[in-house]
Order: sequence, then C-alpha cells, then structure tokens
Amino acid sequence: MIYSYAGVFQNKGDYCMLKENIELLLEKLTLDEKIDMIHGCGLFETKGVERLGIPAFRYSDGPMGCRMDYHPTSWIPMGDSHDFTSYLPSNSALAATWNPDLALEAGRVLGAEARGRGKDMILAPGINIVRSPLCGRNFEYMSEDPCLISEIVVPLIKGIEENDVSSCVKHFALNNQETRRLDVDVTVSERALREIYLPGFKAAIEKGEAKGIMGAYNKLRGQHCCHNEYLLDTILRKEWNFKGISVSDWGGVHDTMEAAMNGLDVEMSVTDNFDDYYMANPLKELIKDGKVSVEKIDDKIRHILYVMNELHMLDGERKAGSYNNPVHREKILKVAQEAIVLLKNDDKVLPISAGKTKKIAIIGDNANRIHSNGGGSAEIKALYEITPLLGMHMLLGGNSEIKYVPGYFANVQGNVWEEDGESWQASSLEDRIAYDTRKRDKNADPVRDARYREDALKIAKEADTVIFVGGLNHDYDVEGADKGNMKLPYEQDALIKELLKVRKDTIIVMIAGSPVDMSEWVDQASTLVYSSFIGMEGGFALAQVLCGQINPSGKLPITMPKCLEDSPAHKLGEFPGGDRVDYKEGIYVGYRYFDTFGCKPLFAFGYGLSYTDFMLTDLLVKTDANQIPAAKVMVKIENTGKVSGYETVQIYVHSESKTVERANKELKAFQKVFLQPGESKILEFDLNLEDFSYYSETEQCFVTEAGSYTILAGNSSNHCPLQAEFVLDKTYHLHK
Ligand code: BGC
Repeated sequence: MIYSYAGVFQNKGDYCMLKENIELLLEKLTLDEKIDMIHGCGLFETKGVERLGIPAFRYSDGPMGCRMDYHPTSWIPMGDSHDFTSYLPSNSALAATWNPDLALEAGRVLGAEARGRGKDMILAPGINIVRSPLCGRNFEYMSEDPCLISEIVVPLIKGIEENDVSSCVKHFALNNQETRRLDVDVTVSERALREIYLPGFKAAIEKGEAKGIMGAYNKLRGQHCCHNEYLLDTILRKEWNFKGISVSDWGGVHDTMEAAMNGLDVEMSVTDNFDDYYMANPLKELIKDGKVSVEKIDDKIRHILYVMNELHMLDGERKAGSYNNPVHREKILKVAQEAIVLLKNDDKVLPISAGKTKKIAIIGDNANRIHSNGGGSAEIKALYEITPLLGMHMLLGGNSEIKYVPGYFANVQGNVWEEDGESWQASSLEDRIAYDTRKRDKNADPVRDARYREDALKIAKEADTVIFVGGLNHDYDVEGADKGNMKLPYEQDALIKELLKVRKDTIIVMIAGSPVDMSEWVDQASTLVYSSFIGMEGGFALAQVLCGQINPSGKLPITMPKCLEDSPAHKLGEFPGGDRVDYKEGIYVGYRYFDTFGCKPLFAFGYGLSYTDFMLTDLLVKTDANQIPAAKVMVKIENTGKVSGYETVQIYVHSESKTVERANKELKAFQKVFLQPGESKILEFDLNLEDFSYYSETEQCFVTEAGSYTILAGNSSNHCPLQAEFVLDKTYHLHK
C-alpha cells in the first residue's frame, strides 16, 4: 500500500513514489472535487477533499507578517484577539539591511508565524522592481536592482519554507504601478524584461525553490499576467521548471479559457460568488463542452498536491509553527536596526549623547504614528508597535525630559477610507483609475498649520536636542493608489525649513516606503536618517541608532532622486501611462540610469553612512573564463574609526560593448561585514560569466561578449574607489 487516505503520502522524499501517489489520487478525484481545489471557496481558502484526506488550503497576506483573519466570505474582520501578530519590517526595509543572513532570519520568523496561525501559503515576499518613486506599493517591494533583490529573496524564501509553509513571491510580473493596476498593459523590451524585471523571480524559483507565485493584476503585451501564456507557461513552467502553485492575484483572472490553458493553478478573488469564479462553473462548462481537457485541470491538481506534500500537509508530520514568540521579536528588532540608513551626519550631531541630553524635542506625526494597520493587504494587526516617540522614552528613561508635538497635521484615513466605512478590498475590483490620492493631499489649512509650526518651533528652541520624524504614511505608501508627486505631504517642507532656521542641528528622520523629494531643505540639514516601515520594534531600533547603542548600517536599496523629473520612468519612459504604459527607459532603471546619463541623484543607490569609517584597499581580480567562478575578486576592508560597525562592500561591473548599450555599472555581488575598530578582513567574491552578460534580443539568450570589463569595489554605487580591468577574449552564449 503506497498511500492511505489519512496519511496520503507515506513515502516521503521519494519523488517517483510521490508521483505515483499523486496519479492515484487524481484517479479518485471527481471533476467537481478538482474544480473545488482550484478556486476560492472563501476569501483566503480553497476546498480540500475530506474523503481522500486532502485538506483545505489556506492563504494569508503578507508580506510584513500574517494578516488578521477575515470572515471566510466577507471582508469583515473576525475581530477577536487571536490574530494579533508580530509585525515585521517591510520588504523595502529588509532590502536596506543588505544582509542575506537577516533575510533568512526574517523568513524564519514569517514562516513560523504563518504556520503558527494555521496558514499554508503566506502571500509574501513582494519583489516587483521599484520603477518609479510614485508607486503606492514600493514599500512592499525591495529594490530597483535585480541583484540585491535576488540575494535577499532567496534566503527569505528558504526561511519561510523551513516552516512547512509555502511562500508566494508576487506579483509576477511588471506590477510597477497601482494606477489602472487591474488592466494597464505593460510594454517592455525583452532585454529589460530579462535583465531587470525577471531575475528576482527567477532566483526565487530556481534558487529559493519557492513553492508559490502570484500573478500580477496588470497585462503584459496585451494579456493579463494571471493567465499570461508567456510568463506562466513559457517562462515559469518551461524555462524555470516551476513545480509549485501559481495563484492569481485576488480578482486578477479575466478569462476562463486562458486561465485553464496558460498555467494558472488557483483562482482567488475578493467577492463571495465563488461558484461564478472563472475557474469554477464557467470552467466546468468548458470541460463539459470538450473545449478544455481534464488533463489541463489535472496538471493544476498535481501542482497543488506536490506543494501539499512538500509542506507535509498529507503525512501528518507537519511542523507546528508559533507566533508572537519573544525570539521573533528579537530578530525583528535586529532587522529594524540594520534597516535604518544614515544619510547625513555632517556635524556629527549623531549619535546623541544620552547622558548630556536633558531636554529633547520630538516633532512630527510619524514620531507618534503606528503604521502597521495600513497600506492595504499588507496591513498587520500588530501585537504592538513601538513608535519613535515611545522608543526614545524607553531608551532614555527618566533622566531626560522629552516633549512631543506633531508639528504638522496628518489627516490619516488608514485602510478603511471609503465614505461608507467599507473595507477598500471589498470594492477593489470596481472600475476606477486609482484611489484619488489628491483627496488626501487636500489637507492644508494655513491657520492651523501655522499654529502647529509655532508649537514645534517653541519646543525646538528650548531643547538640547531636536528630532523631527516625518515622511510618508500608509495614506501615501498604499496599495491601490500611486502618489501624485514626490513631495512631502502635510506642509512638512515648510515646517522643516523653519525648524532648520532656528535649529540647524535638527536631526531629521524620514520614514517612507518610497523616495521623497527633500530638495527644498536637504542642503541646510546637517543630519538626516531614512528608513522604510521597520516593524513592531521600529521605534526602539531608531532610538538605539540615534543614541549610538547601534551603529547604523543600512544602505539605500533605491536611488533617492533630487526630484521626480530626474527619475528614468518619468524622464525617458512613461508613468503611469494610459491604458498602456511603455517602459521606454528599457534597462535604465534606478542607478543604471543616473550613472549612465550623468544625472546626479540626491543619494545614490547603495549609500549609507556609519558612526565609524572604513577603508577599502587591495583589490585583486583573478579571471579564468573557463573556470567557475570566472572571476575571483578579493578586497581588503578595514575599520579605521573608533567604534565597531558593519560595512557593506559592493562589487559592480562595468562592461565595454561594441554591440549593445550597457549601463555604466551593475551591481553583481556584495557582502556585509562586522569589524571592530582597527580590524580588517579580506573579502572574496565569486563572479560567473553571467555576471558580465547582457540579454541579446537577436540571439534570445544571455551573451558574455569578448571585450574589456572593469570590476569596481566600493561602498555605494557612486563611491567605488577601487577598480580593476580585465579582458575576455571569447564570446559566450549562456542561458535564456
Ligand atoms: C493584492 C495582493 C494580496 C491579495 C490578497 C490583492 O489586492 O494585490 O498582494 O496578496 O490582494 O489580499
């Protein structure tokens, strides 16, 4: 007997046997049962088949923790206390750590929490490329750079899936804006697709072995991504050999035939007419009419059973998971600490000397704001969230007097901001261009704002230390709406400028999931700190960094442009386009554009300061194209300052090509190291032929051309003091 109904797969790890078991199960399943397994029977659940021991499959958002539970068939929260959960730093924050080891730990936490909450697939991570500063969901994504995304996403997925929970890497692909997200048609060159937009997903599937992937809402080249033949069938299944479950975004299916034929396994949506889902009764009809073969449905079931088996959902040997575990909070704190980026410290105002500071003025709505409960489907019912204000109090104890005023008025509406008080998600498929962000911009009231500023200036003048905490919140960094511009909302620029006039030493902290325009005051500011949304321990981590308990080590995972117009999607391409959006900027995304076209950003990709200094010397490159790796790069890093700290050494490649345009440089490897004062280490990096390649549209594969290459080593994309050249005398044709 190779399977029993109670414990379906008894021969674990034996793929042939597993296959046989799956085939046996398939024989037993009726068409109705199969159809039930491939579409939602609840907002976050598909049916199992009890008589065969196949359990229901439960999904949960993602990506910053395990989302609160809703009633199975409506967007009304369950409302009891069981789903208070750990709130992790956002993917954009995780990427700012540049620390794959922490990504693994974050994954472990997320997976354990999801499993602890009884989920089978956590709808995380989000890895779409940050194409424009305006995309409402940038905070859920990691970076503008495919190498950084790949290095972070792989361990993150491994960590999640160690817990017998599937990850679900999303949104596949080109979901780079929220405006008209349900049907905007993306046009992108094959080269940019392969070099920029797909590598993160490829790494997630091939190296991370992610068991789940979510289709994007938008179209690619005329066909919706959730049933896009090229993406799901040609690339995902055939090229990358994906064995797991491809699930639609909620409401992302628009055509039964395409969904049946083009590699989608499970349809989910936001409405409760489950039988009418495209992959429910309409699909049954197509099968009955002989237009779709049962074999097509069997493939989908095979993928679902494969994942169930991998997660030990069928053999009774599944790990239990746990949530709100104190150990999780320690790891979350660590990620938050490393996600904070020090952008300016010209006058060494930081770290604050806790002993000497008696009177602290904390100004800004974000000092006192909880972000966990907003953002759209990424919302978290956090067990707690430490705000910067609370964090400073916790850290300084009773010896300092802390005064807080908001400084600006933020009329935050949060996730439920439709007039009838209904959840936005219930009506998220309605025909609308995007939620009207301008509604939220209409906030100014000159009299009130002047009064808020006056209060702020008053406490600033009286204090030893002035900290401003502003930026964005989830009315701006939000699902379903892009920002109208890059400006700081709520008249913050006016406030910051006045603050800087009276207190040049104001410590400015920007909390935002996207780049923001700081041009009006950045030159006057001596001290600037930036972070994305960094989770439940965020305010404490920030206090630790400001007070020097933690030496900051975050690096920007995105370019901070001086203004929106400098940003390539806006300068060369289109954003948000109309019914179609043409990614005319091609491969020139993020720093690839700024570097190549000589456009100076405000802060470069990869940039971030420390309280200590580092020196990079002795770059050595050994190449042999016939070996793996094709190049070995060695570089010495020394902590030349007075305190211990982390530095992230970044390796970029510059390629001279006679055939195609190349970006000035591309990140290919990095390492984060911890060094005591005076300590040095030699770091080694392996580069493969692929790291020197470009995607050739004529030859339809990656090509590493004969020619000259430069390896650059540095600590940000615009600071690479060491360079070494080498020549490749042969051209190599690589994979797709
Ligand atoms: C979002 C997905 C999310 C899903 C389920 C959609 O609105 O685009 O990222 O996982 O809802 O909540």
